[in-house]
Amino acid sequence: MSNVENIIAQLQELHGSEETMNVLSEAISLLRKSEPVKPIEEYYADGWLEYYCGKCRHFLTYSRDNKRVETEYAAYCAKCGQAVDWNEEE
Ligand SMILES: [Zn+2]
Repeated sequence: MSNVENIIAQLQELHGSEETMNVLSEAISLLRKSEPVKPIEEYYADGWLEYYCGKCRHFLTYSRDNKRVETEYAAYCAKCGQAVDWNEEE
């Protein structure tokens, strides 16, 4: 269990007023998004590869012939705020 999952599990044990619970559930959803998720890769026959958010499938960027075309690789999805794991598989 990662640190984040551990903290989420502890937060889920807490009880309090409606206001407290609202803040807690907001914090839990932000914590969930802070754990990087690998992008979804869509291959095309002409060498293009597109990357989509692993959570909401929002378009992130693309590459061609294994060269990343765009220089900026966003650490977070612009749409849902999910952290993106850009590490290449070893
Ligand atoms: Zn997203």
